[in-house]
Amino acid sequence: MAFEKVRVRFAPSPTGPLHIGGVRTALYNYLFAKQHGGDLIFRIEDTDSARFVPGAEEYIRESFDWLGIHFDEGVGYGGNHGPYRQSERREIYKIYVKQLLDTGKAYIAFDTPEELDAKRSGQDNFQYDAGTRLQMRNSLTLSKEEVDSLIASGHQYVVRFLIEPGEDVVVDDMIRGKVTINSSVLDDKVLYKSADELPTYHLANIVDDHLMEVTHVIRGEEWLPSAPLHVLLYRAFGWADTMPRFAHLPLLLKPIGNGKLSKRDGDKLGFPVFPLEWHDPKSGEISSGYREKGYLPQAVVNFLALLGWNPGNDQELMTMDEMVRLFDLEKCSKNGAKFDYVKAAWFNHQYLLQQTDEAWVPAFDALLKAQGIESTPEKEAEVVRMMKQKVVEYVDAQGNKKKRNISFVSDLWPLTKFFFVAPAAFDREDKFIRKNWNETAAREMQALADILATVEDFSVEGQKTVVDAWVESQGVRPWNAWRICLVGEGQGPDMYELSAHLGKEEVLRRMAFAIQTLG
Ligand code: GLU
Repeated sequence: MAFEKVRVRFAPSPTGPLHIGGVRTALYNYLFAKQHGGDLIFRIEDTDSARFVPGAEEYIRESFDWLGIHFDEGVGYGGNHGPYRQSERREIYKIYVKQLLDTGKAYIAFDTPEELDAKRSGQDNFQYDAGTRLQMRNSLTLSKEEVDSLIASGHQYVVRFLIEPGEDVVVDDMIRGKVTINSSVLDDKVLYKSADELPTYHLANIVDDHLMEVTHVIRGEEWLPSAPLHVLLYRAFGWADTMPRFAHLPLLLKPIGNGKLSKRDGDKLGFPVFPLEWHDPKSGEISSGYREKGYLPQAVVNFLALLGWNPGNDQELMTMDEMVRLFDLEKCSKNGAKFDYVKAAWFNHQYLLQQTDEAWVPAFDALLKAQGIESTPEKEAEVVRMMKQKVVEYVDAQGNKKKRNISFVSDLWPLTKFFFVAPAAFDREDKFIRKNWNETAAREMQALADILATVEDFSVEGQKTVVDAWVESQGVRPWNAWRICLVGEGQGPDMYELSAHLGKEEVLRRMAFAIQTLG
């Protein structure tokens, strides 16, 4: 009889920052749980004390808080299947190790690392299994008295899973279908080590999934090779009836070339592979994060959801609720998903534009402060309104200059510098200036300045009435030269909007400076 309520888990090992692939795994678990009215559990798999990294667990939780991926129970969330940190479950695992020993499904082995090394160097492809276990020092080859006395005298040992050879083990995967492996290729995996009184990943993982009533194991493809062993463990415990269903997600692949996405790809091409900035406690190395890079959490979640799954049509922008509704675990791809970081920026652009202009202000203000500029929230929001649809240049992976939409608040600098800092010099070699500044332009700018000086209402409409009339009657085209005066180069928003924003005094000052400097 299977467990009734859908229960899934995300079970990271706190060995460092959470990789973006791990975030996708957690997200798929979340979508699946919500879709079925089920529970999502947060379990910390910290039985490998050698790989423990301080701060990693906190980092992982902070990442999910930021991303809006909420757990129903687990470390930091409570629940009645705890404790949820494996290092706090030692006594529980001991019961189940004993069960396997008592039923002859596992045995105790005393082989020292040196003895194992000697075996390996003496025999090509040595594997601890049905073919070799009877040549080793274990409870299958030693008498009960010898075993007891070795343990009593403090010899360290491990408990190994006894795998019967020659059996086809079928993993029924929701994404990959039936994956069959012959048990003869598996080795007698270590399940427990007396040295630290802790189980290994395999045992702890299966015991916990069972005790926590997990119904579906959704995890990365890298765990597929462990799945046959896990199926055999379920059987050895007599839990085959409630064995979870497996779903192994496709790999995340490099943006260019072949192979798995790595931190090196991110460093080379300039995108983060971690949700938050990570400060390595040992090396002091800092790795960039999506949050610090200026991504909105909704954009990251939306982008990740589509790496390995799509709703079956062209829809790309989806809220979390829509994704919960549309997600289909069984329609996930088997093939790896290329990590398209340019597309990630596009998603962020979309989500930035969905925000109000005011919502950009805190990040924009911080950006300006870093340049030593003080402004007001109102002015900053207005600059955002005028400039958020602009494009910026970037260099692609092949080193080519390309253009893209503003995708991060930080793209606004230096695009908006002239709003806050008047041009202090002009580049006479600049194409736009060479083309648009000459004696006539200078004369027209003086005339325009004289007219603007008389304008009382300096709003867009107020200026427009007066200036448009002058433009009509004189047949002049003052726009580009005016832009040089106020911006210093050939970019920026609508001239009336810019002029109204800067205000009469500043506009006249900038015009006088340009006329005087450029002549
Ligand atoms: N602790 C494993 C990890 O770090 C969990 C794998 C699983 O989901 O079974 O990903």
